[in-house]
Amino acid sequence: MKKHNFYAGPSILPDSTIKNTADAVLNFAGTGLSVMEVSHRGKEFVAVMDEAQALFKELLNIPDDYEVLFLGGGASTQFCMVPYNLMKKKAAYLNTGAWAAKALKEAKFFGDVVEVASSKEANYNYIPKGYELPSDADYFHITTNNTIYGTEIKEDLDVNIPLVADMSSDIFSRPIDVSKYALIYGGAQKNLAPAGVAFVIVKKDILGKTGRDIPTMLDYRTHIDKGSMFNTPPVLPVFAALQTLKWLKEQGGIPAMQKKNEEKAALLYDEIDRNKLFKGTAAQEDRSLMNICFVMNDEFAELEKEFLDFATERGMIGIKGHRSVGGFRASTYNALPYESVKALVETMQEFEKKH
Ligand SMILES: *Cc1c(COP(=O)(O)O)cnc(C)c1O
Repeated sequence: MKKHNFYAGPSILPDSTIKNTADAVLNFAGTGLSVMEVSHRGKEFVAVMDEAQALFKELLNIPDDYEVLFLGGGASTQFCMVPYNLMKKKAAYLNTGAWAAKALKEAKFFGDVVEVASSKEANYNYIPKGYELPSDADYFHITTNNTIYGTEIKEDLDVNIPLVADMSSDIFSRPIDVSKYALIYGGAQKNLAPAGVAFVIVKKDILGKTGRDIPTMLDYRTHIDKGSMFNTPPVLPVFAALQTLKWLKEQGGIPAMQKKNEEKAALLYDEIDRNKLFKGTAAQEDRSLMNICFVMNDEFAELEKEFLDFATERGMIGIKGHRSVGGFRASTYNALPYESVKALVETMQEFEKKH
């Protein structure tokens, strides 16, 4: 039976990413050696790193005064690297979920943190709007897609202080205007590569202004100077990321990806709204195109376990919602085919007929 992979992360990758990576594990670039056992300073891997950075810049139209880095430590290490490198005294954070709250917590080690707004009281089911930013903050941090709660900031904000975004779970899902951001980061394991690498897009002239001593490994300038090769980079995840970037280009780039993502999300949200058994959990206007959260309607609450089993029997994998929201979450990342969403919708319709 075909498996439909709705896991939230690590999560579905393009077939070509998995196939090419498997091939390179056996024989990398005609070397007769595995990509896991060759020097990262050999010409074959240096070419991979260079091409990955170049394609990243090309696909997102990244201006010349920005650098793309591939680093270990996941998005969670960025929660501390961002304030370490950017905060002089004060930073503003928008609290839209558990990841945003974790980022905010780390920032407190480095200075004053202003939580400009929070939707915590509503279990993060919407994106706060109409807040004011302190004009003396060194930067404003947002989480564009809240993986756990299925809310998303789907446009690039216009703000008058440097904007920093955690885009772990929606990078490459829609075109972005990178020039509106000072720094963008994320873990790669949602939409790009296997776990083990984080990406950072950083505007070079925002660095070096804090007056603070920064440990070498946590200083972005170290990694810019050495082209993400200061220490051994996560070789295999970077190789896999390059395969996904090539796939994105072949698919028609980010605008084509956005169109597909909108089609997939519309198909599933329409069914959630139509089907008498289910309801969505996120505010309509903030609904994520990447993580679609829904629960049983109140009068059918006792059917939750039955639907999970019913869907699992039909090949739906990873649709159990995060424990803090409950119900279901279908992650519809770039690599998830339309057919998988269709299969889930048909499963929901079949289940409705049964009840
Ligand atoms: C998964 C996730 C993280 C954590 O990423 P790690 O690489 O595991 O540290 C951070 N932010 C968001 C939005 C996420 O979805």
